[in-house]
Amino acid sequence: MPGFEIFGDEERAEVADVLETGVLFRYGFDDVRGGHWKTRTFEAELCRALGAEHCHVCSSGTAALDIAMAACGIGAGDEVIVPAFTFIATIEGVLQAGAVPVFADIDETLCLDPASVKDRITDRTRAVVPVHMCGSMARIDEISAVCAASDVVLIEDTAQALGATFRGQALGTFGAMGCYSFDPVKTITCGEGGAVVTDDEALYHRAEQYADHGHDHVGHDRGAEGHPILGTNHRISELGAAVGLAQLRKLDWIIQTQRRNKARLREAFATCSEVTFRTIPDPAGDSATFLSVLAPDEETARRWTSVLAGAGVPGCFYWYDNNWHYPRKWDHLREMRTPGKSPLTLLDPPPDLSEMDIERSDQVMSRTISMLVKLSWTDGELDDIQERIRTALEG
Ligand SMILES: *Cc1c(COP(=O)(O)O)cnc(C)c1O
Repeated sequence: MPGFEIFGDEERAEVADVLETGVLFRYGFDDVRGGHWKTRTFEAELCRALGAEHCHVCSSGTAALDIAMAACGIGAGDEVIVPAFTFIATIEGVLQAGAVPVFADIDETLCLDPASVKDRITDRTRAVVPVHMCGSMARIDEISAVCAASDVVLIEDTAQALGATFRGQALGTFGAMGCYSFDPVKTITCGEGGAVVTDDEALYHRAEQYADHGHDHVGHDRGAEGHPILGTNHRISELGAAVGLAQLRKLDWIIQTQRRNKARLREAFATCSEVTFRTIPDPAGDSATFLSVLAPDEETARRWTSVLAGAGVPGCFYWYDNNWHYPRKWDHLREMRTPGKSPLTLLDPPPDLSEMDIERSDQVMSRTISMLVKLSWTDGELDDIQERIRTALEG
């Protein structure tokens, strides 16, 4: 997830356009912006890259999730099914709506298991949010079928998988809405930024209105705007969007480079007969930001984590112990430590978020190690890393 690796002349040139006029804002100032509409251009190019009808670029991936929940009408007391392996932002999006996050298990795709989703659907379930973790895809066709059969909204968290596809279709375009992040460690970065995409025009308008205090964005220079709904402020600045635009234009090159580098890592891990690889439902669509391997058992995974670090293999993550991506370690969520009174406490009975039925996810995550794929590796560095991986796993 290497946006931070590639800041160059293209990004500088886009930012310079914005600095030239001083119009750092996406809305208004129509007559003095010198024809620069970086956010709008970024949205149009994202639509083209993803094959989506509509796109709204916003201030973060977390904001994108909040916008998607609001646009899709998810609200107080609704249940939203989320995977046991994700970043906390997915859950924050649900909580922000006053809705109840319900964890379902992941499988060896490291993403939602469609059977577990089906199992967790109740008459209060309003949405399912699969997260395409670490650059590769969930079984999105099966999850989509489960949602359709139960009349539940599908919202994809594609924060970590920009540029990945399933059978040729961009991840993030399978459900009602797809959410992306352009934060410092994602495939492309704006510094901070995010986006929602949809093919549904009504959803799009609710999204862009909600993200800007309910303004309907009608008329020249904000002159004739109405406020059909209440909203909030999730606007991105033109400076951030300018960077994102330059980065997006490098996306094909980024994906190709990641795939090539990932293949080299995979080659090295494959020399160890005990290694199995994460299941990728459509390997041709992998964005290849990470290589994930599974050990036969937890003890072996822990041993590998330690010997890989000892051998100087860079960027290996044992998520099961890491307090960023696995809910067993999220004490703040389990104890619902909200700054003020959460709307969830008004439910009868209030949900107990410390109760998590995710034993099958434990079995997968306790065996999983992921390795970050970098763009900037030279052939010589890759030779060296391959050698270190082989040596570590032989021992
Ligand atoms: C990064 C991330 C987000 C949130 O994105 P921000 O831009 O950091 O707010 C949401 N979901 C997942 C899975 C992420 O990795």
